[in-house]
Amino acid sequence: MVRGILSESIIGRAQNSGLIQVECHNIRDFTLDKHRKTDDTPYGGGVGMVMTCQPIYDCYENVKKSIPAENKARVIYMSPKGRIFNHDVAKELSEYDNLVFLCGHYEGVDQRVIDEIVDDEISIGDYVVTGGEVPACIVVDAVSRLIDGVLASSECYEGESVASGILEYPQYTKPREWRGREVPEVLISGDHKKVDRWRLEEAVSITRERRPDLLLKHPEIEAALLPKEKKKNRAAQKPNV
Ligand code: SAM
Repeated sequence: MVRGILSESIIGRAQNSGLIQVECHNIRDFTLDKHRKTDDTPYGGGVGMVMTCQPIYDCYENVKKSIPAENKARVIYMSPKGRIFNHDVAKELSEYDNLVFLCGHYEGVDQRVIDEIVDDEISIGDYVVTGGEVPACIVVDAVSRLIDGVLASSECYEGESVASGILEYPQYTKPREWRGREVPEVLISGDHKKVDRWRLEEAVSITRERRPDLLLKHPEIEAALLPKEKKKNRAAQKPNV
């Protein structure tokens, strides 16, 4: 599942050119019993099965052998109980040399192996999916885009929604008219200052409508739209805290 998703498109090309390396390990290969069992019933009762400690730990020990001791590494359990993944977390993770993702299944993983090996728990949002593989792929994709060389340049992500602090302005491409819908006049004016101003206004407007919380975090972005005089007055009014 993971190889399938990550071998395509930009992330696939990043692997082919050696910018990132993704390795998948099947926990079932580390079981010691003849049925290759990786789960068991929960202590205390209840529905579903829980992934057992031993194969996860042995798999982890095997993975650890391939990570040079001097590398900065982090073991992450993908879990709906983790901190919510966002651009800042992606940036933080992009500073590591190695990321090890533990992907749960069924009702989850025996807490003792989480306590033993996991540094961080990350959730992709407040909903539950069936396994940790798709969440791990989302994190790998978002983190990989921040690695030098994976995208054409850092400009490709710096201006994007959320990475810039707010949501992105609407994008248009050819043809100039499609089903009676015209590309906004300003984008074909050739006036770069006007284009920049229009994009900022659109970005602020869509963010105000959909994610006002982002504008509260970055008041300076909206302030950039104010005329110079107003900006000065606003600065003068700022209380000293
Ligand atoms: N019983 C668990 C709970 O209530 O917290 C949910 C288990 S879920 C069905 C199975 C696995 O999918 C989890 O162990 C985790 O690895 C993964 N998973 C499910 N939702 C996730 C989310 N929002 N973020 C990250 N991983 C998730």
